[in-house]
Amino acid sequence: MKRQQESSRNSDDQRFRERLLTWFDRHKRDLPWRQDRDPYRVWLSEIMLQQTRVEAVREHYLRFLKRFPTIKKLAAAREPSVLAAWSGLGYYRRARMLHAAARKVMGELGGKFPRTSHELRALPGIGRYTAAAIASIAFDEPVAVVDGNVERVLQRLSGRRIGGEDVWRRAQELQALERPGDFNQAMMELGATVCVPRQPKCLLCPVSDLCATRGELPGADKAIRQRKREIHYALDCRGDSVFLVQRPAALRLMPGMWELPEVAITDASSPVHLTLRHSITVTDYRVGVIAGPAPEITNGCWIAKSRLTKLPLTGLARKILRSASII
Ligand code: SF4
Repeated sequence: MKRQQESSRNSDDQRFRERLLTWFDRHKRDLPWRQDRDPYRVWLSEIMLQQTRVEAVREHYLRFLKRFPTIKKLAAAREPSVLAAWSGLGYYRRARMLHAAARKVMGELGGKFPRTSHELRALPGIGRYTAAAIASIAFDEPVAVVDGNVERVLQRLSGRRIGGEDVWRRAQELQALERPGDFNQAMMELGATVCVPRQPKCLLCPVSDLCATRGELPGADKAIRQRKREIHYALDCRGDSVFLVQRPAALRLMPGMWELPEVAITDASSPVHLTLRHSITVTDYRVGVIAGPAPEITNGCWIAKSRLTKLPLTGLARKILRSASII
């Protein structure tokens, strides 16, 4: 009986792989990092895609590659140039780690990019998920990836609230040994485009008849409650320059990046020049920009407008300067 159950599960797993890969071959999105399997490009895309939407990454990926087409060029760059090229993507720690890893590959490893998930994890900024993604896509290592999308798909498929190591184990059992990179991308693609968090499109799902829940897993999709905050900045332009401040190097979030000086709402007595919205993880900001100096801010610098695009600006500073037609 036990043997029978096992063999039916194995054949279901095999059908799952075949259906998923056939669906992926037909429906995968045309993304710039899917043009080849060059490890540097795969790595760059995986780092950019961490906590960032595919659509936001597309343009930044191409721009970054134009600026640093090879790992050698990236390793030779100065950190401010790397941060400037990353500007607008947020989570700048990723750019710093990417740069440090490029230097490690070109220095300590003599230019040889690691080829296994185990070796990749020794590079700065590469954890279990990213190592598995790069090793499977660029080097065909049959190692599964688990991100939020894959976890959700596996929970719905099985009808069980599996988590932690169990999800990794189940993903590894399902892995298609002959096409591991495509399989991993297909799992993530299914979660991102069909088995989506709120209303899964089960009618379009290639594996719906193998799915235990067809989307009805009670309580599976906890809506994340967004916090709301109001914040004001001062936009002070004189001649060809703008007044900006640099975030302290010791900050955990965006250290060393440049931004407009923040003003307390009570100080924002000047009329609001423009308003915009900005979201960072679970916080939605309503941003008011006043025209004129920020009272009591003395630690900033006047920066020539022509230098702004070369400066590592925070995403919000870039947005404000764009909205004000300064860059
Ligand atoms: S049938 Fe629906 S819930 Fe199940 S895997 Fe497909 S999209 Fe997700």
